Amino acid sequence: MKNKNKGNYTKIVSIMCPQCLEMVDIPMTRKEYRKYQRCAAKNENFTKALPRLSEREHALLDGNMCGNCYKRIFGATG
Ligand SMILES: [Zn+2]
Repeated sequence: MKNKNKGNYTKIVSIMCPQCLEMVDIPMTRKEYRKYQRCAAKNENFTKALPRLSEREHALLDGNMCGNCYKRIFGATG
């Protein structure tokens, strides 16, 4: 994924990981943030609305564990 929007992430969505209870910050552009809010309100799929985010970020938005917990539990590398 290219980072051409780097520096334009003016919004931060903080999600608490249900496993370790750490707050994980997901930086978004204003446009992405609006999409995020709309999806959250309608309970829609974040993966389609915010394709730039990583798989783990999508999972976190859907109420799953953070990347660190995922690695710890499943031993995933990278
Ligand atoms: Zn966690």
